[in-house]
Amino acid sequence: MPALLELDHVGLSYHTLAGEIPALSQISFSIQEGEFVSLVGPSGCGKSTFIRILAGLENADSGSVCLNGISTDERIPPNKRNIALVYQEPVLWNHMPVWKNIAYGMAKKDKKVIYELMDALEIGGLEKRFPEEISGGQAKRVALARALAADKGILLLDEPLSNIDEKTKLKNLEYLVQNYKDRKTILYVTHSKMEADFLGCRQIRMDVKE
Ligand code: ADP
Ligand code: MG
Repeated sequence: MPALLELDHVGLSYHTLAGEIPALSQISFSIQEGEFVSLVGPSGCGKSTFIRILAGLENADSGSVCLNGISTDERIPPNKRNIALVYQEPVLWNHMPVWKNIAYGMAKKDKKVIYELMDALEIGGLEKRFPEEISGGQAKRVALARALAADKGILLLDEPLSNIDEKTKLKNLEYLVQNYKDRKTILYVTHSKMEADFLGCRQIRMDVKE
């Protein structure tokens, strides 16, 4: 069976006025359908760049990326990739209350599902607030709840629980493992070895480029 995600020597440099900034070089690995994998590496090693390539928001300069055996060079548009993405900086619709933000990608807007997710992620009671009325850590969990509610096959989570207190973070990690391991294909990006170890899944290590 081909891997769900297959990366072969993927590289990308940012071209800026100050010169070339190498962000990723020679990244190769594959992820099977249903695997929960963490991508661990220090700040600046290219994790977010890599997630953006997988989501179709950035194109690699070299190497190949295949999704379900199809090269993304064939320009699989982001909305056809069956991916839900949580950005490192949460991106919410400011004109929508929290519950509508979570409902945004749901085929059927089921309030029971929304409230259950909110309780599980410890953001229950915030449903009528607007994004500017919640904290940064709460906004991250609203973004995570929206990705989970969208019920896509692949979840790309870019530091979804950074800047959240340790106790809440551990509860949220436990919830993810108990409810989504073996059900979804998840790539969980973190700079924290502790978080990756807690997840207890396969770890892919990345290092900063020279
Ligand atoms: P990480 O998510 O692992 O912290 P990033 O993918 O955000 O790393 O960044 C990888 C490298 O690319 C860093 O050196 C960073 O400074 C650089 N970089 C990231 N985004 C841009 C950009 N839009 N333009 C130029 N350089 C960037
Ligand atoms: Mg990042």
